[in-house]
Amino acid sequence: LHVNSYLVAIAERIATVKHKILILSGKGGVGKSTFAAQLSFALADMDYQVGLLDIDICGPSMPKMLGLEGQTIHQSNLGWSPVYVDSIGVMSVGFLLPHPDADITWRGPRKNGLIKQFLKEVYWGELDFLVVDTPPGTSDEQISIVQFLKETGIDGAIIVTTPQQVSLIDVRKEASFCKRVGIRVLGVVENMSGLSQPVSDLKYLKRAKTRREEPEDVTERVLAVLREKASELLGLVAFTEVFDSSGGGAAKMCVEKGVPFLGKVPLDPQLCKTAEEGKSCFGRDECWVSASALSAIINQW
Ligand code: ADP
Repeated sequence: LHVNSYLVAIAERIATVKHKILILSGKGGVGKSTFAAQLSFALADMDYQVGLLDIDICGPSMPKMLGLEGQTIHQSNLGWSPVYVDSIGVMSVGFLLPHPDADITWRGPRKNGLIKQFLKEVYWGELDFLVVDTPPGTSDEQISIVQFLKETGIDGAIIVTTPQQVSLIDVRKEASFCKRVGIRVLGVVENMSGLSQPVSDLKYLKRAKTRREEPEDVTERVLAVLREKASELLGLVAFTEVFDSSGGGAAKMCVEKGVPFLGKVPLDPQLCKTAEEGKSCFGRDECWVSASALSAIINQW
């Protein structure tokens, strides 16, 4: 009876949320939180109402990344109010911590309790999308959020990885976890997939290098191919491999696993800088998640 009562309470809360998307990764540091934030901005730019929930209890990075450090949770008669960045309602476990450096070593039941409380208490209002940034690996928190939200319907999960084998092995585990608990994998994003250079700079470099010995049209042909690729990469072209992806990277693994590949995102110093400065949402005119990846996600339901 007790179990049912909180599940009912969560279901009531979440009833105003149309779509729930979990962002997963096998390892830490692959850019999962960055992707969760950027996906939220991209969806908000498309005029959807978006909520962003960070349940990474041991390493909540959303407050820092979004310049929301020091914010605390406010309570209204409707429940806990998210902190707003533009139109996006953000709720992070970091808002509950006394200090950003606080060391959280909670055990499973306490973490579960907190996640349950978040889901029960936060008043999101009408949302088109709730993007949930989960801790890396198939952890207690991930299992709890799935357990708590499953009844209300989870639309799917997006797995973020880097191209190396060590990260891809963990993605396979994540994909198997999703299959076991009955969550659809909306797709896999390969992040930090090479170094990028703006197309205009690349054009300049190529021109300078090939002027003497190569005919102009060869350069133009190369650029045309790169530009085509660039539409996937949002105006940026990955042209230096950083990590070894000789195994075929995430794209190949997706074919093996039968899950959609959403695209590659290059290492982008500007992105890292804005995150460090807590300006992830303001630093760029363009959104970091490519339009094609987004429509691939949205068109799945
Ligand atoms: P995770 O959530 O997987 O632990 P984060 O999103 O916190 O990873 O990212 C880890 C670090 O890498 C952050 O400093 C972030 O700014 C940086 N980062 C993530 N993706 C990129 C990228 N494509 N280019 C440059 N820096 C990135």
